[in-house]
Amino acid sequence: MTNLTDLTISESLAKLKTKDISPVELTQAYIDKMSENGKYNAYVTQTAEQALEGAKEAEKRYTNGTNRPLEGIALGIKDLFCTKNVRTTACSHIIDNFIPPYESTVTQNLLDDGALFLGKLNLDEFAMGGSNETSCFGPVVNPWSKERKLVAGGSSGGSAAAVAAKMCAAATGTDTGGSIRQPSAFCGVTGIKPTYGRCSRNGIVAFASSLDQAGPICKDVTDCALMLNSMAGYDAKDSTSSRIAVPDFTSFIGQDIKGLKVGLPEEYRPDGLNPEVSAYWDKAAEILKAQGAEIVHIGLPHTKYALPAYYVIAPAEASSNLARYDGVRYGNRVEANGLDELYINTRTAGFGNEVKRRILIGTYVLSAGYYDAYYLKAQKVRRLIKNDFDEAFKKCDVILTPTSPIEPFAIGDKNMLENPINMYLNDVFTVSVNLAGLPALSLPIGLSANGLPFGMQLIGKAFDEATIFKTAYQLERGANFVRM
Ligand code: GLN
Repeated sequence: MTNLTDLTISESLAKLKTKDISPVELTQAYIDKMSENGKYNAYVTQTAEQALEGAKEAEKRYTNGTNRPLEGIALGIKDLFCTKNVRTTACSHIIDNFIPPYESTVTQNLLDDGALFLGKLNLDEFAMGGSNETSCFGPVVNPWSKERKLVAGGSSGGSAAAVAAKMCAAATGTDTGGSIRQPSAFCGVTGIKPTYGRCSRNGIVAFASSLDQAGPICKDVTDCALMLNSMAGYDAKDSTSSRIAVPDFTSFIGQDIKGLKVGLPEEYRPDGLNPEVSAYWDKAAEILKAQGAEIVHIGLPHTKYALPAYYVIAPAEASSNLARYDGVRYGNRVEANGLDELYINTRTAGFGNEVKRRILIGTYVLSAGYYDAYYLKAQKVRRLIKNDFDEAFKKCDVILTPTSPIEPFAIGDKNMLENPINMYLNDVFTVSVNLAGLPALSLPIGLSANGLPFGMQLIGKAFDEATIFKTAYQLERGANFVRM
């Protein structure tokens, strides 16, 4: 018999419905994996008892026929989503004792559909990072690590590692500049950042509000469709939430891609690109071509300005969003004589170095005299990047690129404190998508010579996750990647 934790969500649901397995035994299997795989440091808070209670309830529902779409499916939740009565930290000391009195809309949607929560997953502090090394709870270890401990990617490193190591059926993530896609690529799992506005941001700790989007990280493409069905939808509590109808994403799974135009942007193949990444990119294009897709070459000429624009806009918004952690209303306080000192002491003790750096950069680019030179210019670049995609999508239906230019590296190898640019450069293939508000999915394509996973990215038109799912499923079938 296969291991219960190897089952995808769709396989589990089928077996739960026929009562081949029970929600309690399935949930227990994940809980056992959580203790077995504690060494990866994926969970920062565990709620196993709560999950088991829910599993008993799910058992009743399967018996009396009132089971909901994700009944009895045990999930991990990135610790950036507020969960009612369960500690929510953003992996920052400044709110490491915060217990929200409310549930985020996305997690409430999942609960309403019958999902169970196993606990809260590690991330880079306030989702700022690309290796999960800035977390106040320490780094996540990539389950694919060989002799040396490798990073799981970031910021949703805990989510990707937990899915890869079977410590949950699927996880939630958030993506501001690649935080769902890059850790998915590093851990050999599948994740989708939907169109900006698809999932409510209500109750998600804010990093950069015009870029942040929630999405699922799963074992395969079909599970991503199932999860997104539940997570997405209009929410009056988020003014940027979209009223565009959410289709049943699973209905696109299995559709053929004959005649579909797949765009390859030449700007994503700079001189010196890792030859393995380049070769897998070609292989992915070949797989899609073999299934009837047409490969077209497109240009995204402003790609080279995306990183600098992102690293102005994201810190600007972060500096504003993080002003609320002042020791007065939320989280921890360091006492002082007077208000200014209270702010200084609290924020000095509470924030980690990378978060402080972003606050400083953000405050600088928003200040009088520099606003025009940095922030306004970055916003203009953002528009040009969006225009590039609009032009490209006149020639193709979906865009194929690598997710990351590199494979997972060893923990501590890229010293973010001393050389942050080195880390920021790895986001080169993901940030444009957030600047343009588009949907994009990463799925594993194969292993490097070192036996580490590489991911491919599919970028779609705004609100056209449908084409991404259809294409991703065919690419997944053709790639035949063997999960951990
Ligand atoms: N690595 C990027 C950053 O550090 C993206 C993070 C994210 O998407 N949350 O900002």
